[in-house]
Amino acid sequence: MSTLKGRIALVTGSTSGIGLGIAHALAGAGCHIVLNGFGDKTEIEALRADIAQRFGVQTAYSDADMSQPAAIRAMVTDAQALFGSLDVLVNNAGIQHVAPIEEFPDERWDAVLAINLSSAFHTIKSALPGMRQRGWGRIVNIASTHGLVGSAQKAAYVAAKHALVGLTKVVALETAETLITCNAICPGWVDTPLVRRQIEARAQAQGIDTELATRELLGEKQPSMRFVQPEHIGDLVLFLCSPAGSSLTGAALPIDGGWTAH
Ligand code: NAD
Repeated sequence: MSTLKGRIALVTGSTSGIGLGIAHALAGAGCHIVLNGFGDKTEIEALRADIAQRFGVQTAYSDADMSQPAAIRAMVTDAQALFGSLDVLVNNAGIQHVAPIEEFPDERWDAVLAINLSSAFHTIKSALPGMRQRGWGRIVNIASTHGLVGSAQKAAYVAAKHALVGLTKVVALETAETLITCNAICPGWVDTPLVRRQIEARAQAQGIDTELATRELLGEKQPSMRFVQPEHIGDLVLFLCSPAGSSLTGAALPIDGGWTAH
């Protein structure tokens, strides 16, 4: 992955789960990394220092809230000022809310749309001019199987992820003649805090243990009956950033243990 050595990568929502897996993969390929996300400040500092030390790259952290356009723009500008460029942008930050539409709180709808969709619009809009100037860039939007198919009780999430796939296609078309690509990755179930909360809610609602709730959750959707691993998503991001990925743009790539083969 020599093309990535010394490149600058920003991964939103990278203090946990899939985003952290992607940050590790990119750092392993030699990228300097800007982390972003919420969490305990001491733990985040430990994550940042660990990546720098383990992979011998430079790292920075932004606490920008992905629901706040001005903070998003400042995060991108600061990253460019600190490192001189921004070459790889991974829009990963996301939240979930599960409820039937009649009971779906307006405020949760707005938050899911802002963080899972609009944040990507703002980061891309801010980062693209620099990528165009330098003639190279990779934009990866972490959508979901829910960017391709629906599930009950996830109105905001499914709407946001479908729209993120649409945004991906438009950016790919607008950059098609450059060496910038834009793709969406559509993971199935990945064992992260976001999914843990859904498993625990299911276990509690049905009065079952979390092991059975996990089997039920996988059994409903994911034929492999195994979670997708964050490292596998990291490897897919590396492929998209590689020379072999240069003709792959505007795609929505499932990595879902067969979920969308149904
Ligand atoms: P996670 O909860 O482990 O991580 C979410 C990350 O986003 C964290 O770093 C969190 O701090 C950050 N974040 C949340 N709100 C934020 C905000 N307002 N501003 C900045 N950062 C914020 O979840 P995850 O499962 O790793 O999810 C990562 C992405 O992958 C999300 O977009 C999610 O929709 C998507 N995804 C997850 C799964 C899955 O099964 N876990 C499947 C498909 C897609």
